[in-house]
Amino acid sequence: MSSTPRVIAFNYVLKNTKGDLIDASEPNQPLPFLTGRGQIIPGLESEIINLSEGEKKLVNVPAAQAYGEVRADMVMEVPKAELEHLKDLAVGAHLQLQLGEGVKVVTVSKISDTHVTLDGNHPLAGTDLVFDIEVALVRDATPDEVLHGHAHGLHGHAHH
Ligand code: ZN
Repeated sequence: MSSTPRVIAFNYVLKNTKGDLIDASEPNQPLPFLTGRGQIIPGLESEIINLSEGEKKLVNVPAAQAYGEVRADMVMEVPKAELEHLKDLAVGAHLQLQLGEGVKVVTVSKISDTHVTLDGNHPLAGTDLVFDIEVALVRDATPDEVLHGHAHGLHGHAHH
């Protein structure tokens, strides 16, 4: 297999295995990505890179190859008093926690009288995904794109 970096743009409709719609690309706005950089989930990239322009495919991606399984160690209980400074604390709210250099987004999954449960799992963790994809464009990556590590739009000219 060639290791030359390419840019592939694709349209997609994402559902779970029950058929519920999760996400979809905008009409006429295929999503471009640079191959080999982990820009899309591994279970999807490994299939897309084998398709040609214009090809369609239904790709099943198990949770482990998508956003991972739900991890119990990503869920933590924090005393409510520690979050008293936060307004609008409600189940389903997203919080950004400062962890060393990085920021971690967590979801408030439960609020009791004394504690708040924060879930750091990706919202799609534990979900098997079904992508209905259509490859809109395949081209070689430009040297700038390889240097930057991302696609510069559909045709490699996008500024950012
Ligand atoms: Zn760039």
